[in-house]
Amino acid sequence: MNRSAAVTRALSDMHHAARPTERRAKPLGIYVHVPWCRARCDYCGFVSLTIAAATPGRLRAVIEQTLSLLDQRVATVAPTHRIDTVYVGGGTPTVLPHALLRRLLDGIADRLGRRTALREWTVEANPDTIDASTLELLADCGVTRLSVGVQSFQSRLLQVIGRCRVAGADGALPEVLDLIGRSWSGQWSLDLITSIPGMSPAEARLDVRRACEAGPHHISLYDLSLEPGTRLANRLGRAGATSAAADGATVAGVCTASATAAARELERRGYRRYEISNYAIAGCECRHNQNYWTLGDYIGVGPSAVSAIRRPEGGIVRYSDAATAEGFLNQSGPWGTAEESSPAEAAFERLMVGLRTAEGVSLSEVMPLLAERAEVRQVFERWSDQGLATIEAEVICMTRRGWDLLDSCLRDLL
Ligand code: SF4
Repeated sequence: MNRSAAVTRALSDMHHAARPTERRAKPLGIYVHVPWCRARCDYCGFVSLTIAAATPGRLRAVIEQTLSLLDQRVATVAPTHRIDTVYVGGGTPTVLPHALLRRLLDGIADRLGRRTALREWTVEANPDTIDASTLELLADCGVTRLSVGVQSFQSRLLQVIGRCRVAGADGALPEVLDLIGRSWSGQWSLDLITSIPGMSPAEARLDVRRACEAGPHHISLYDLSLEPGTRLANRLGRAGATSAAADGATVAGVCTASATAAARELERRGYRRYEISNYAIAGCECRHNQNYWTLGDYIGVGPSAVSAIRRPEGGIVRYSDAATAEGFLNQSGPWGTAEESSPAEAAFERLMVGLRTAEGVSLSEVMPLLAERAEVRQVFERWSDQGLATIEAEVICMTRRGWDLLDSCLRDLL
């Protein structure tokens, strides 16, 4: 199906799916991608551009195009959806000059027209872009949640991954976290990275301890991923390292020692692991991401952003915005490039992301769409016999041991 046919059909599905009593019933997430950062980290595989290289005119043009496309996309889905969450990520949204950041956030709020009805509005920030005036601006625009990219409190580890220029572990970081703790009245989350080459379990536990001392409501704990073509991958490749062996993992697919140590420490400190990489105190889970994990609908806007709309029969249509600022500015029509997933592909995807969550996946939700994959159930039963998963009331959940071995388990399904 060509792009315009796919778009026409998906939009038609959306309208026909709406019965009067179901109007606006489907929750919708909004993701806005701000592609600029102060400097590029060596491990970064995202679309991020150095802000110093962009002219003020270019920054303004991308923000205006973002708001214009958001307008058009929201208008299209408004008859069938209610906007539940907004997530402004990147990049580093808070690296924008304040006047432009306010223009973007006010523009989003104006377009949604219901800021008080949102269940959550998150903005990502790096510590070197946060001061009292930034926090005031975010709160004033209606933002309810801050996601702070710390990654590590230890300069040695930040140097290994090439992030020193945006983190400042030994400089302003403690002051910034203290400022957030004192003056940010919403929820906030802190990101850490584990499985850094040479990272010991003790160093991982130290990062977790310092993160917990800062008192965030939510902590994300990501394994370092070596994206091909990044400066870090090239550097480690030259040194003969591999990602799986980065901190002593013995077999590909097995959680590294630093990741396991960090996970256990976080749970010991009272954060509930509600997804393999995400921990929260009760009631502070990230609702926006929970929508992704259940394959809910969302609109993404900005260079490289993706939108996804579920069809009534279970398939998904995804639209991608151009990855470069230039391409994004020259996009025509309200939606980017379309790609279809069949109902069986979508069910398989739901399974793969759902097994990463503590809630697990209902087999009655996915198995009818996976009729041609009868062996999947046998794999689940084997996992259950091996203590890697539980199956209760037709819901499959990975155990803690299953999560430790998740990558190798999932290979059984491929
Ligand atoms: S701050 Fe984040 S998005 Fe920006 S370069 Fe570093 S890793 Fe990439």
